[in-house]
Amino acid sequence: MAEPQADVAPHTSGTSSTSGSNAPQYHPSFSSPDAEIVFLSDDGVLFRVHRVVLQLGSGFFNGMLEMPRDADEALNNPPILIRDNSNVFAALLDIIYPHRQPPELDSLDFALQILQTAENYEMHKVTEIVKCIIKSRLDFFLQQPIELYNIATRYGWEDVAKVASTETLTINLHDPTMSESVKRLESVPLWQLVDLHWRRRRTFIGALNIQPTTGPTCNIVWKNIINWATSCPQNIGYNSHFWKGNVDIAPVLILKRLLAEAVDLEPWGGAIRQRSFLDKEDLADMWTHKCADATCRQVVFSKDRLHTELLRVLDLLPSTI
Ligand SMILES: [Zn+2]
Repeated sequence: MAEPQADVAPHTSGTSSTSGSNAPQYHPSFSSPDAEIVFLSDDGVLFRVHRVVLQLGSGFFNGMLEMPRDADEALNNPPILIRDNSNVFAALLDIIYPHRQPPELDSLDFALQILQTAENYEMHKVTEIVKCIIKSRLDFFLQQPIELYNIATRYGWEDVAKVASTETLTINLHDPTMSESVKRLESVPLWQLVDLHWRRRRTFIGALNIQPTTGPTCNIVWKNIINWATSCPQNIGYNSHFWKGNVDIAPVLILKRLLAEAVDLEPWGGAIRQRSFLDKEDLADMWTHKCADATCRQVVFSKDRLHTELLRVLDLLPSTI
């Protein structure tokens, strides 16, 4: 997990409880002399924080600070040791302090650290603010769809989880490079995501079954990909060469295998959406296949119509948890 870049500058004029070159320094944004409570983060940065802010912003600190304290606690008591990284703690304080700008979130790892720490400190406002920040830059965070889905499902952000689940369809969940991200998911969200990918693949593969004309709308309508031929003696009210001898053939089986393999690797079907998918060498026989009726012998399949039909069906498949 990548640590966020440190943005804490050494602050030489701050008051420190120790001395020496390695002595902890105050965080430049949290060194106000009139702040009563002093914390020391696990990476050695001191924070002065106003008691009232902690009491109003954190259920945990509100309880801790209920007991009477010395008025001059900041001067006389050792700092309160916290197990948090200074960047994370500063981000929390930026949110619970009034009139401060919320932190910049450059990564979902950092956002997750903030959220988990906020849970420990019962800082409920933080969860909402982090959600707002993420939603305001959704396109950026969707570049890591599994990580975003993980956070959204942990914190009950159903709308974000749905959008992220759709974005994961461009990923093969079984790709070894994805395993670490996938393993971090909790069991129910993981099952929901695997189920979505599975439903999408199965629905698409099922849609390739040869239907004469209509049927469920998300099926490939083979009549739609066959050149119209009113004169074909085999067509029975369909105005096309659609009949068993023309669709139950090896090139169609090869097409179905290639489509199934592509959607198995990437349920979104990005490769299939490319018109060039149909230019594969393995499909060459499909585009020269002629009607099996001896008196017809016209080319049966239309590449353009198949591409249009594939796009139509892909957009009808299950796309969200
Ligand atoms: Zn024909």
